[in-house]
Amino acid sequence: MNLYRRKFLSVLSATGLILAGCRTAYQPSSQAGPAGVAETRNEVFSYSNPLAGLDDEAIRDQLERAVKPAPVKATDVQLDAGQMSLLKQSVAHLEKVQQLVGHGNFALIGFDQMLRYARNYPSIGKFSTAQLDFFERIFETDARQYGFMGEKVISRLNESIRDNVTVKVPYTGNYLYRDESLHLYRRLKKDVGDDLVLTSGIRGVVKQLYLFLAKAVETEGDLALASHSLAPPGYSFHGIGDFDVGKRNMGYANFTAEFANTDVFQRLVQLGYVDIRYTDGNTLGVRYEPWHIKVI
Ligand SMILES: [Zn+2]
Repeated sequence: MNLYRRKFLSVLSATGLILAGCRTAYQPSSQAGPAGVAETRNEVFSYSNPLAGLDDEAIRDQLERAVKPAPVKATDVQLDAGQMSLLKQSVAHLEKVQQLVGHGNFALIGFDQMLRYARNYPSIGKFSTAQLDFFERIFETDARQYGFMGEKVISRLNESIRDNVTVKVPYTGNYLYRDESLHLYRRLKKDVGDDLVLTSGIRGVVKQLYLFLAKAVETEGDLALASHSLAPPGYSFHGIGDFDVGKRNMGYANFTAEFANTDVFQRLVQLGYVDIRYTDGNTLGVRYEPWHIKVI
């Protein structure tokens, strides 16, 4: 384990998780090492302008993150071994919930509802106090500590979605909000044609928590890296109306930059009324997502 990882782990264990608000400055990997990571600092962020309050170095760091396919290791926030085991256990536990309620419903259920399922169905089993504390800490952590500068759009872990405001979109397994989201989706279907498909709709807090933690398993506990491709729970606009589209039969490639090369995407751009939430080179610390449609 190298020096800056050790340094981070000591900060993390001293604070419980990642509450220190520290990120080390970016150093090219050729210079990484004891000399390259001497600097750890607290950062003060402003909610209105993601770059306001940052010094030049921090702005450069954020811009690096915007143009690189993944953030560089030196800026990352890392779970320790104990937290990794809790993380993996929790992901497996959430998967049991998803198995029971089904993929579609899992996108909509609230945190309290999930706990009720866990209590009432032995196939899931109750979540432990350690897991619940972990979920709460993940939800309450200010994502700017990961370099994720997007807005928090859901403020309570137990916020739930009312049944009567959603609609299941046929053949997609996804739900949309009845109002603006459904209206925009129908308009897109009409203007782009049947080649355009809905690939992800509403995602409640539980679903986003699950996706973020599953991504954190993939990144081996590197929460900053995870947040580059998946908004932490509470920060996803999928919770309040945004949705993802793709080209029919393109599968997973719909969630890569390849989507920007399709005729479907070209058509979206030509329409003039479509906004992409995470544009190329955005300063929010989020990768380019040409498939993610912004709904106001
Ligand atoms: Zn999306």
